[in-house]
Amino acid sequence: MKRSLFPVFFLLLTLCGCAKTEQQTIFAMNTVMEFSVHDKAAEDTVARMTQRINELEALLSRTREESEVSALNTANGAETPISFEVWSLLDTARALTNATDGAFDVTIAPIASAWGFAEEAFRVPSREELNTLAPLVNSDGITLAQNGGTYLASLQPGQAVDLGGIAKGYASDCIADIFLEDSIKSGYASLGGNILAWGGKNDGSPWRVGVKDPSNTEALCGVLELRDAYAVTSGGYERFFEENGVTYHHIIDPATGAPAESDLLSVTVVMDREDTLLEGRCGSGTLCDALSTALFVMGEDAALDFWRSGGYDLDLVLVTADGRIISTPGVAFAPVEESGYSYEAIS
Ligand code: ADP
Ligand code: MG
Repeated sequence: MKRSLFPVFFLLLTLCGCAKTEQQTIFAMNTVMEFSVHDKAAEDTVARMTQRINELEALLSRTREESEVSALNTANGAETPISFEVWSLLDTARALTNATDGAFDVTIAPIASAWGFAEEAFRVPSREELNTLAPLVNSDGITLAQNGGTYLASLQPGQAVDLGGIAKGYASDCIADIFLEDSIKSGYASLGGNILAWGGKNDGSPWRVGVKDPSNTEALCGVLELRDAYAVTSGGYERFFEENGVTYHHIIDPATGAPAESDLLSVTVVMDREDTLLEGRCGSGTLCDALSTALFVMGEDAALDFWRSGGYDLDLVLVTADGRIISTPGVAFAPVEESGYSYEAIS
């Protein structure tokens, strides 16, 4: 009896020892998210990822009354206890406002609301209304403090923060921590334009990720090959409304209070991933997200100057309004010829 069971037992063990690919698509943070994990316990990893994203949305959402961000935004200047991770995200956001000469600024919230982007109640605010709100856009108004083990934040009265330009990137850093904790060799996450390529594909080849053609979002203007990297694209085509024949998109130039009049149609920022656990601190995914938004606001020349200045180890793919695609040397990018853009790989 014992002997005849042995082959069955052995077969079961072999089956259970097999890695498989688990894929899941969820809707969270106002966008479609996809996870793909190749591992023996891939289902558990994907379940943890989904749970983590839901936790983050509950902390970071501006439209959920019970979130930490809402508590801060409605405190009317009072000090608010927040979690370490929201505290460090605000700290990073504030530093990035300085690093980008104000192009990225999470205190854009009152202006984003005036345009109805946060609430999806779109309208064109008057210049007077925008001028009244302009002084509220100032990251110096974010005060962060620590008292024992408690993390505290406050804003100036009337100010509010909108983490829409950085939250998905931070979420991708949190997903990276799960890949690392679970010792996953091959996986992928796409959080509404925020890509994390974990290792390569299961067959060893790099992940191939399409860059949308901003003028025809059904098509691609190029393909990136990624391995152990983040790639984030920002563009005015992602979220917009039309009024009297004018298109208004959701990336706001803090200097004008209006949708950025960029000479770029999209900006893709690529960075390598870290090899260490971030544990609530911000990593390259967070940086890619904020910087893709900021470089879109800055426009072509300032974006390339920012890249050349070398302050961050990043690579870029820029799609310009006058029909060019520009990529920097560290990125494996192949343009799609039929998209009609001219292509320049700069050195
Ligand atoms: P998406 O959310 O489509 O991926 P982005 O990462 O570029 O696009 O972020 C755009 C979002 O960031 C807006 O919806 C708004 O919530 C917020 N935002 C808009 N303009 C700015 C800005 N200049 N700085 C920081 N956040 C911004
Ligand atoms: Mg962004």
